[in-house]
Amino acid sequence: MVRLPRRIDETNVTEFLASFDNVLSDCDGVLWKTGKVIGCANDTINRLQSMGKKVLYVTNNSTLSREQYVDKCQKLGFQAKKEDIICSSYVLAQYLYHQQFNKTVYVIGEDGIGAELDHVGIKHTGIGADPAPTNEKILTVAETRELDADVGAVAIGLDGQFSFPKMIMATSYLLNSDILFLATNPDEMVPVNREDMTCPGAGALVSAVETASGRKATVVGKPSEILFSVIKRNHNLDPARTLMIGDRCNTDILFGKCCGLQTLQVLSGVTSYQNLQQYALGEKIEENNFLADYYLPELGGLLDLIDY
Ligand SMILES: [Mg+2]
Repeated sequence: MVRLPRRIDETNVTEFLASFDNVLSDCDGVLWKTGKVIGCANDTINRLQSMGKKVLYVTNNSTLSREQYVDKCQKLGFQAKKEDIICSSYVLAQYLYHQQFNKTVYVIGEDGIGAELDHVGIKHTGIGADPAPTNEKILTVAETRELDADVGAVAIGLDGQFSFPKMIMATSYLLNSDILFLATNPDEMVPVNREDMTCPGAGALVSAVETASGRKATVVGKPSEILFSVIKRNHNLDPARTLMIGDRCNTDILFGKCCGLQTLQVLSGVTSYQNLQQYALGEKIEENNFLADYYLPELGGLLDLIDY
């Protein structure tokens, strides 16, 4: 059995705080849920910054651009500059830009992806509504649409306007094996402020197109090391002195482990302590990398320990 994460408490908090200079913090489920701050996560992040820790906000959520995340952070009481935001929409655009990609991207996703692609001068199509027709059969859509010959990549992120026609278009482009297939992130769901409801994540949309196309998307967000390579281009971080904080084991914690970072699990998002116990007992090798070094019920608990 692998070791469960150690809870941070009065006995180890000093050693813990001394062990890192940089913090990569996930956002949804760690700092906030939808538009609400979780506990005193903002005061905790601000305290870490005032202690001299460099904080980057690393989110798989692609619906916003970096500028929009700066606004969101500031509104919720987190200090952030544009260069501190590493969202998967930005990582996607950087990944294509550094590959000298010069064609059009067919995007299933929201404005955040469009804004980041615009920022690096990459053309895109597909963002916005494309509802299923009410007065014709869906097969007619597949037989009457035209494909854009300049499309060289299909990229999928979270899209509140995901539709059957969008799936038809993405899958049809992917019939051509020269067309790249990218996903911002594999998250199964996004945490919401209700126990009895959930919100499917980008991973659910990616899986639908993977099933239909028989192809596997390249993920650029966590747990992919592509995201860490984008961070390293602009920030000089020593992995051994960097802490990844996250609520999701198969993205945040796995990413931290794969990139040689220290890891802190919080239980304020999609993962419960019971889940951790199941991973510790499980036999899947990959699940060993789902278990962080430390855990806390929520990030704000660290502030109480710092002040202890
Ligand atoms: Mg999260």
